[in-house]
Order: sequence, then structure tokens, then C-alpha cells
Amino acid sequence: MHAFGDLIRTVPDFPKPGVLFRDITPLLADADGFADCIAALAAPWRDAGVQAVCGIEARGFIFGAALAQALGAGFVPLRKPGKLPPPVLAVDYQLEYGVDRLEARSDALKRGERVLLVDDVLATGGTLAAAQALVGRFGAELAGAAVVIELEALRGRTRWLDGPPLHALLRY
Ligand code: IMP
Repeated sequence: MHAFGDLIRTVPDFPKPGVLFRDITPLLADADGFADCIAALAAPWRDAGVQAVCGIEARGFIFGAALAQALGAGFVPLRKPGKLPPPVLAVDYQLEYGVDRLEARSDALKRGERVLLVDDVLATGGTLAAAQALVGRFGAELAGAAVVIELEALRGRTRWLDGPPLHALLRY
């Protein structure tokens, strides 16, 4: 485990009873811890030819923007519905109760561009699978995905399809 893992706060029963929430904001507030985290996130991808880093709203923006800079790549936000002006490409995905949607500007990625997906937490894997599908709609090439935290009991990794690497820094 990385030392910066100690900066992640575990909060029981948030946002609803029975959920153990991993709060990454103390990590962001610690200059050395955040820098170490970004260096560790970047390490497996240094020679992967990543051209665009796609961060998932909202905490994926924070890690993704810093990671894009570390890799010398551009940053593309994958947003919740209604935030980006048209035209957009969108993918709907199932939540435990209801549906959600991820959107990107319709010219945000080029065909064949090497893309790295980033989020803070991999839980059930639905969000990352939707992001994977959205990148596929552009005809871009997925280099892989990077998450800070993988909640292993929720088996999100099983929804990550077709093989590109999925790296997690911390596993609970
Ligand atoms: P999934 O779609 O179930 O894998 O959920 C992943 C999404 O939910 C990510 O975008 C996370 O930001 C968010 N999420 C799930 N659990 C937590 C948590 O414990 N802390 C922070 N974010 C979480």
C-alpha cells in the first residue's frame, strides 16, 4: 500500500446507511501526498503513448487533470448530463436505482487516439464501463484505466471488458 493511503478518510453510513464512504479530500489537501499519488498514478502509463486523459465527473476531474499534465497529454472531461453545451455524444448506464448518463463533446476525441480513463473510486464498475463505451463511440483506442481506490468486494473489475489494463493504487 502507498503511504498516501493513510490520508484517505473512511466514513461509515455516508451518503446512506450501510455505505462505507472513502473520502479523498484530506489526500488532496496534503501537497506531498497528492503529488505522490499523481506520480504513482502516472508510473504505469509513462510509455503507453497516452494522448488524452478522460476524467469522470467530478472527482475524476481532479486526479485526471493532474495526471494529464504529468503524462504530457490533453484532458477531456466526461460529464454528467446537461453540463456540456451541444453537440455531445452520450452513454446511458444503470445505477442501483435508476439510470445515469455520461457525455462528452462530440469532437472531444479523435478516431484512433490513445485514451486513458481516470476516476477516484472503482465500486460496482458501472461508471467505468459506461466511460469505456463512450470512448468506443468515438472510435478512440483505450490504453486502459487508472483509479485511486478499488473497492474489491463490489467486484467492479468484472465489468471492465476486453482487456486493456486497469490499475488501482489502493484496494479495500
Ligand atoms: P461505480 O459505478 O459503482 O463503480 O461507482 C463509481 C463512482 O461512484 C465513481 O465515480 C466514484 O466517484 C463514486 N463512488 C463510489 N463509492 C465511492 C466512495 O466510497 N467514495 C467516493 N466516491 C465513490
